[in-house]
Amino acid sequence: MITYGKALEQVLSAVARLPSFRVSLADALGLAAAADVLADEPVPPFTNSAMDGFAVRSADCAGASSERPAHLRVLAEVWAGRVAAYRVDRGTAVRIMTGAPVPEGADAIVPIESASVTGEWIDVPRPVRPGANIRLAGEDIEVGARVVEAGSTLRPAEIGVLAATGRVEVLAVPRARIAVLTTGDELVDASDVPGPGQIRDANVHSVCAQTAAFGAVAIPFPRVPDRRDAVEGALREAAAAADVIVTNGGISMGDSDFVKMVLDDLGAQRSFWRVAQKPGGPLGFWILDGKPVFGIPGNPVAAMVMMEEYVRPALRKMMGYSKLYRPEHEGVLDRAWSKTMPDGRLQFLRVLAREHEGTLHAALTGPQGSGILSSMTRANALALVPEDVTALPQGSRVPLHMTEQPEDH
Ligand code: AMP
Ligand code: MG
Repeated sequence: MITYGKALEQVLSAVARLPSFRVSLADALGLAAAADVLADEPVPPFTNSAMDGFAVRSADCAGASSERPAHLRVLAEVWAGRVAAYRVDRGTAVRIMTGAPVPEGADAIVPIESASVTGEWIDVPRPVRPGANIRLAGEDIEVGARVVEAGSTLRPAEIGVLAATGRVEVLAVPRARIAVLTTGDELVDASDVPGPGQIRDANVHSVCAQTAAFGAVAIPFPRVPDRRDAVEGALREAAAAADVIVTNGGISMGDSDFVKMVLDDLGAQRSFWRVAQKPGGPLGFWILDGKPVFGIPGNPVAAMVMMEEYVRPALRKMMGYSKLYRPEHEGVLDRAWSKTMPDGRLQFLRVLAREHEGTLHAALTGPQGSGILSSMTRANALALVPEDVTALPQGSRVPLHMTEQPEDH
């Protein structure tokens, strides 16, 4: 059995970034930039006023006071979107609105509320610093500045900056498409009333929702019966339709667990099957027709934890993000935890992590069986208990994967 660390390493080295594409700014939100973007225009494009007021020569106001204000003649007005036709020469000013280009000759703006106006004259009662209330061309973004970094997420701010520098499209990496196949003859739709021995298919919903939360596109496949030919047909179809395949259930040692067998028979390259971890021990990973296949066990908690720990970083790599992993913090276990026997498996415990006076306290969210799906709804982190540890006293320090925080490395 392979370890979690090795398994994750194999997954990540087997997946590659999807080909980039040009996307309009309107459709770019949340995608990863495929390349650096350098500004080829300055922002702002011209030197302009940061206030409504008067464009003046600071030299004219040197030594001004309320007793002896600078007395300036207002030559004209300049509005945002217009260009002043007048030069500000000695003893003159131009009325100016926020965003209007600063007229030649002027080197400062006196805000409207700091001047007193009498007809076409103003009095400025104090000195003005050169450059006051002026926004210089390129002071925000210089030509050649990197405004977007390859691998970063295109957020509203990046989209705004791209628009300001005259770009309407950006080279980005598309969302990966994930075929989600649930298997199991015992399963019925959530809308059905289960008959004897039947249960509702929860995982198709949780896994598709996780896929969407990861920024990828889920393609839920019709549920696959526990039959060899059905599994084979669904896998073939999925490989043709999606960038990634996630199967759910049918990967253990049971007589009706066909996923592994069929993948091997189809000639998929197997990276590993079975990982020294709990939940998710029977996890397998293959490449089928160039498409990564995650064979995830059907236990509802295992399904979600495997999506979080393996599929999410893999999808992020495929989708071009440079940060693949969520924050890992150290937490303090608020109650003792133990398992009956050493089993050589890394354990992912569901916990609610809360900060209190500088310490991150991790509270177990109840029973930790891999079928206890409700333990996930109360959790915001996974605590990792190393393979060789069978008991953790209250107050033990444990690494936490913060499953609700965005990636930081
Ligand atoms: P399997 O991995 O197919 O052996 O399934 C392990 C356990 O998870 C069994 O108790 C299944 O009934 C349950 N299970 C499998 N698939 C699902 C699913 N899609 N939704 C809810 N429970 C499931
Ligand atoms: Mg099954």
